[in-house]
Amino acid sequence: MNQLNLDHAHAAIEFNKNEPRVDWHDETLWFVRTKRDRAVAQLPEWEQLREAASQIKNHVLSNMHDLLAQFEENAKRNGITVHWATDGAEHNAIIHDLIQKAGATRMVKSKSMLTEECHLNDYLTRHGIEVIDSDLGERIVQMRKEPPSHIVLPAIHLTKADVGETFHEHLGTEKGATDPQYLTEAARQHLRETFLTRKVALTGVNFAIAETGGFVVCTNEGNADMGAHLADVHIAAMGFEKIIPRAEHLGVFLRLLARSATGQPITTFSSHFHRPRPGQEMHIVIVDNGRSRQLGRPDFRNSLKCIRCAACMNTCPVYRRSGGHSYHSAVAGPIGSILAPNLDMKLNADLPFASTLCGSCSNVCPVKIDIHDQLYKWRQVLMQEGYGPTSKTVSMKAMATVLESPRLYRMAGKVGRGVLRFAPVTVENRFNPWYNQREMPEPPAESFRDWYINNKKA
Ligand code: SF4
Repeated sequence: MNQLNLDHAHAAIEFNKNEPRVDWHDETLWFVRTKRDRAVAQLPEWEQLREAASQIKNHVLSNMHDLLAQFEENAKRNGITVHWATDGAEHNAIIHDLIQKAGATRMVKSKSMLTEECHLNDYLTRHGIEVIDSDLGERIVQMRKEPPSHIVLPAIHLTKADVGETFHEHLGTEKGATDPQYLTEAARQHLRETFLTRKVALTGVNFAIAETGGFVVCTNEGNADMGAHLADVHIAAMGFEKIIPRAEHLGVFLRLLARSATGQPITTFSSHFHRPRPGQEMHIVIVDNGRSRQLGRPDFRNSLKCIRCAACMNTCPVYRRSGGHSYHSAVAGPIGSILAPNLDMKLNADLPFASTLCGSCSNVCPVKIDIHDQLYKWRQVLMQEGYGPTSKTVSMKAMATVLESPRLYRMAGKVGRGVLRFAPVTVENRFNPWYNQREMPEPPAESFRDWYINNKKA
């Protein structure tokens, strides 16, 4: 069954049917989390860095308009063409137009979660443009016609055998091959041809610097650089929250990003783009797509501080055991569950409930986003707006009525104990997901209140 068409709880049930996969998915992401912990432990100033990053982002959120205007002015002065897109549709149309103007029908693209959010690949494919994703993980999931399941490790839900099978089908590698070096070499040869023959390259943006009008793209594979350096037209797509005020702030964010994402001291390639090389065109598309709305929500505006490191996903017990596709949204995990309801409350009403609210996400977040508090607040908003599931709304109302009345509460307790003792099947059945993984406790013969009254004298 396709996980993407289900709500989170049901998609998680599908994911959990393959127990060995759940185990290695959980263990692999926990390994990344512990790598992050070791890298963090080597920096005594870690907490100061987090605080500095959070305060810089506070400044950005309060001065968004001015910083973006400053960035535009400086970028234009550098010879970069700046485009503004209100939503995903505009973002896609601008990029399509640029590809057409370049006389191209093919484009190479490095990792950009914004383009996933805007469904750029589908849009361009429908308009006859071939898009090749050049990040290895992204290319693997693209071949399988799947979305990424993780923002840093897009193919983390797949085994070596899955990748071998996919490459056998699409790249003609030997059947049954699982050697990572052999498979990576095959991907390398395939992508090299792509880099050399595409006139248009698209990259994401990790940080755009208002002071200089330049931007920084971080990758571990150098694929963004290969694409951008060889193409005649470089298009960079950025959500407007990626702006930072000054170049000196980069030092704070780059140190936090790599350590939080993969436990590395620095991303292998942190490429600075300031102007097109002679003869090249450089465009930057700055996208809103609901970000202004989120900025206007006092309880949720801090989510725009996110630098997409994925530490909150790697640590989340629910993400690790339900897989990224269960979140049916471009950005999965705890931060995705805050961003997605802003885009579509009805469609994504299930996501803020996909959390234990343990707070581990907030503890690891390098920019100090109060992630679990925001998830809790979204739950309240969604229930108030009427987007909660009918069964939950009705049962919560019934529960409130019972808890408000001591007499009803006592009666319900008596009935409940009787039902559990003589007809446990009424609650312990396959239609009640709560009991799927649990064993029922033995119901007590009497309530504590009854026991107290009966034994008071003794
Ligand atoms: S919310 Fe924080 S931890 Fe999660 S991806 Fe964003 S920056 Fe990283």
